[in-house]
Amino acid sequence: MSQTSPAADQQPHKKHRESLYASRAKAYPRFLNSGLFRRLKWLATILTLAVFWIGPWLRWDRGLGAPHQAILVDLPGRRAYFFFIEIWPQEVYYLTGLLIIAALFLFFMSAMLGRVWCGFACWQTVFTDLFVWIERLFQGERNARMQLDHAPMSANKFLRKGATIVSWVVIAMAFGFGFTLYFDNAPTLVHNFFTGQAGLMQYVTMGVLSFFCFLLAGFARENVCIYMCPYARFQAAMFDEHSMIVSYEAWRGEPRGVVRGGIQGRDPQEVFKDRGHCVDCKMCIQACPTGIDIRDGSQLACIGCALCIDACNSVMDRFGLPRGLISYDSVYNQQARSVGDTTSRTKVLRPRVYGYLTVITLVCSAMIYVFATRKTFDVSALHERSPVYVMLSGGKLRNGYVVKVLNMMHKDGHFKLVLEGLPQATMSVIGQDTAAATSVTLPVPPDSVGTFHMFITVPGNQLTGPSMPVTMKVTDEDTGKVVSHNNIFAGPGA
Ligand code: SF4
Ligand code: SF4
Repeated sequence: MSQTSPAADQQPHKKHRESLYASRAKAYPRFLNSGLFRRLKWLATILTLAVFWIGPWLRWDRGLGAPHQAILVDLPGRRAYFFFIEIWPQEVYYLTGLLIIAALFLFFMSAMLGRVWCGFACWQTVFTDLFVWIERLFQGERNARMQLDHAPMSANKFLRKGATIVSWVVIAMAFGFGFTLYFDNAPTLVHNFFTGQAGLMQYVTMGVLSFFCFLLAGFARENVCIYMCPYARFQAAMFDEHSMIVSYEAWRGEPRGVVRGGIQGRDPQEVFKDRGHCVDCKMCIQACPTGIDIRDGSQLACIGCALCIDACNSVMDRFGLPRGLISYDSVYNQQARSVGDTTSRTKVLRPRVYGYLTVITLVCSAMIYVFATRKTFDVSALHERSPVYVMLSGGKLRNGYVVKVLNMMHKDGHFKLVLEGLPQATMSVIGQDTAAATSVTLPVPPDSVGTFHMFITVPGNQLTGPSMPVTMKVTDEDTGKVVSHNNIFAGPGA
């Protein structure tokens, strides 16, 4: 039987327990108009979006029959093009190499400049920033937006919110459409798209991408960086005391406090005597797209956009104080400044930087080598199993093969095939007048696979076992490049 303790009975507040879960407050970032980092952010936004939207319209002449789009992922043709580079499905390891280089470069940038990628060039940051700018355009600055959100629905609110949503949808669709253009000939797709002739998958892809752009940049915003992005979780492992990060110089700012009576007509030296330079105006929090207080120290939610620096610098200017209370600098330099040493000491070249540079150089060199020596054709042969061999009159043995030659060039290929390892072997190709030849030439049209049914014949007494290895050596008659394929020649007992 359960009993209720008298002590519990005497605790009426237990019936109204407060939740320990604090729901996240929506961030209303103040959109600054000036400042070095604001200008750099605009520059990064313009550059990344220009590259993204102009990319599919660049042309590259690859000759007859090949697509002329410089950057194209041709899924039906199972090919990817990047200017002069053409990747076939079996060469997908190039993509792996590129991803490895991109990851290493991200680590390198983090070691040098902190989360500069997150703050300036990441898609989530770029589109969120653009969407906030639009929001401010139609709904006003931070306070006006907060008031509008809490106000009951009215014609004014409906129009402002509606204009914002419509603008977001247009930008999100431009993103979805821009992305889809990388998967088909851009001018053709634009025509087909607006005349209803594009494929269902193209409409679906564009719709899905647009929806997620709208959702993530319009509503999820900083929550993507804080809760969804894995990079934020392990970034700290890539920093050291010489990495550039955004941080508040507490040694200079504390003890903080509001300046009563303003600064007008007063000597800053006197006003800030025996106190810190932080005037607790909270402009740094208001400017922050993730809504955090950088004065609490380095945090996972800080994307390194440096907008709090612009905000704080403008406050410092107003109070006649030196800029840089929030700075984009190394911890090492900050500590030096805190003891009065203003000489910059950050080490740019250090073991971890050398390490990243070495690995990046090695991977790039390997990629360049593999690419420079890549095959322009390939050969494979399938030994026929039924029958495995045929005994001809006169004691000769014959094996059949299906030989496939992949011509990866945009011109006719002529490939000379000779055999190695089988003495006195001769060849014949069905459809060619090549009976009992010691070499055959296999013509393959541009950018395609040639399939040839071929027989190899040897005198029976040449076989030294149930089967013997045979090498098909194929030479491109134009370039002299050689590709070999190993197979077997089978006889009785195989
Ligand atoms: S704390 Fe500063 S640098 Fe970090 S996200 Fe906020 S505004 Fe950007
Ligand atoms: S903007 Fe600068 S002065 Fe204002 S609260 Fe932030 S750190 Fe303090």
